[in-house]
Amino acid sequence: MKSFAVVGHPLEHSLSPTLFNTAFKALGLDYTYTKEDVGLSELKLILEKVRSGEYSGLSVTVPYKEEIIPYLDELTPEAKAIGAVNTVYFSEGKVKGTNTDWQGFMDALVKHTDLKNKKILIYGAGGVARACLYALRKFKDNVFLTNRTEAKGMRLAEEFGVTYVHKNKLPDVDIFINATSASLNPKSKNELLVSEEQLKKVSTVFDLVYGETLLTKTANTLGIKTIDAKEMLLYQAIRQFEIFTGKEAPIDVMAKSIDLSY
Ligand code: NDP
Repeated sequence: MKSFAVVGHPLEHSLSPTLFNTAFKALGLDYTYTKEDVGLSELKLILEKVRSGEYSGLSVTVPYKEEIIPYLDELTPEAKAIGAVNTVYFSEGKVKGTNTDWQGFMDALVKHTDLKNKKILIYGAGGVARACLYALRKFKDNVFLTNRTEAKGMRLAEEFGVTYVHKNKLPDVDIFINATSASLNPKSKNELLVSEEQLKKVSTVFDLVYGETLLTKTANTLGIKTIDAKEMLLYQAIRQFEIFTGKEAPIDVMAKSIDLSY
């Protein structure tokens, strides 16, 4: 018997318990995966439960991916470079943090596109943009970054060695990645971020926000390939599953549990 949980707030809509419990059942594992919907002050206590063995692993989500770092004994190089942790586990007497979001993003992207010689634009400079930039580090000569707050975008572009472009002077690219939360805000949910003219030149749109957005709707209308944000969730969970259990994840049943075809 082992116990795992997702830590975050709010968690009502989290699909992680469905993904993991379905996978445990499919492999006949006597494991459980629950939710820890906690405030910031309770984070330390939850991590003590990892140290004591009460939890064998944790998924970490909004808004604690950065806040959890000071409480961990060790970070993997990828978690350090991204500056965020989405996976906590106990190993060699230490509570360790790593990041599988970048792999989830990359697995989903390469499943649908060949990145060779493709120009890629990332819109956004928050936590998830950092994971995308880390994932695309080998392709950085072809990566462009833009952001609403220019100074923040410029700093991030410099840190990851990609080209910063002004949001009103976007270059023609093949792949457009929306790493902003603009569509979640009622005030900006009807803004496309790029002109329709510009979008027509793109071959693939990856909007990291779940569900239909104005961007994915417009891309679909224009016949542009879109990648479902839930694929990133699925693939980061698969990597996490393997860290937690040491076993290969049953991808097909996990995909099906969140209504994704695999
Ligand atoms: P952050 O809060 O760290 O960053 C938000 C980003 O969105 C910033 O770049 C911000 O720009 C930009 N932004 C917000 N509002 C607007 C607007 N009206 N117009 C233009 N830009 C705007 O969030 P995260 O990076 O952690 O997450 C971003 C989104 O990615 C989340 O909302 C979530 O839905 C999605 N996500 C999806 C995952 C998946 O598995 N599919 C995983 C993680 C996140 P500025 O710097 O100017 O404020």
